[in-house]
Amino acid sequence: MNSPIAIAIHGGAGAINREKMSGRVQAAYHTKLQESVEAGYAVLSDGGASADAVVAAITVLEDSPLFNAGHGAVMNHDRQVEHDSSIMVGSTLDAGAIAGISHIRNPIQLAQRVMTESDHVMLIGTGAEEFAVLEGFELVDNEYFHTQRRLDQLIRLEGKIAGSEDESDDFESDKQLGTVGSVAIDRSGVISAGTSTGGMTNKRFGRVGDSPIIGAGTYADENCGISATGHGEYFIRAVVAHEICAMVKHGGVTLAQAADHVVNEQLVKMTADGGVIGIDRHAEISLVFNSLGMYRASVDRDGEILVEIFR
Ligand code: ASP
Repeated sequence: MNSPIAIAIHGGAGAINREKMSGRVQAAYHTKLQESVEAGYAVLSDGGASADAVVAAITVLEDSPLFNAGHGAVMNHDRQVEHDSSIMVGSTLDAGAIAGISHIRNPIQLAQRVMTESDHVMLIGTGAEEFAVLEGFELVDNEYFHTQRRLDQLIRLEGKIAGSEDESDDFESDKQLGTVGSVAIDRSGVISAGTSTGGMTNKRFGRVGDSPIIGAGTYADENCGISATGHGEYFIRAVVAHEICAMVKHGGVTLAQAADHVVNEQLVKMTADGGVIGIDRHAEISLVFNSLGMYRASVDRDGEILVEIFR
């Protein structure tokens, strides 16, 4: 087949404050988003599979301290980083996910390995890490993921919980932002989607969000692929990613209409901040969010590249 190829990525959606973000920081985000989307697109233009494109794009974002995934992910209440991640291939409905892991440099790569090399869809905690070692992954200290910025966010949030009125001067909401994801369609017309996150700052040890839950944070079928970002507890209850793809499949609506309905009506009604990226089988891209901003980039079916942060 010679389907048009396209890829979209996100680096999280939420309260991104334009006034507090310097030009230098904005430029750093633009550079990294572009690097990520180009890494994924290179896989597609070489004839590679959409799942590999998604993993390539997400790996770039996990390796950057700017995003809430891999190195630089947010800290839980115990000042540790715990990752959740998932991937799904739309043509086969194959899926892999990991949750609550603390020692794997690139969680999306492990999620992909769970999909391709195990009989399971989701592995968690030490069981996931034991599987990782058997698969040849290196274990890294949890400190590898730590950054001063995320520690400061945790401390500020603890202060707020204790009643402090301290105003953050960070350009992002302290609570949650920077989860990463990608959706791609390859030359065979196969759509894949993946998501990776450290979750929410100050989360309880063992808390799992929507990102590794197939149907909530990530979903792909033959018509549609979605990666979501936002307050996970709401996204799980609204089964966001599957809801959108199900509307496309059964509801006779376009991906853009379905994503708009779920993000700007259903989630808004639940007071849930966030957004989604999606691609349909015609390689049409949707980037939809109900928050102040969403770090996002795409290369469309005509090869046009877009990199944006704000509305
Ligand atoms: N959805 C993620 C979670 O709740 C957070 C985010 O997207 O920023 O774990």
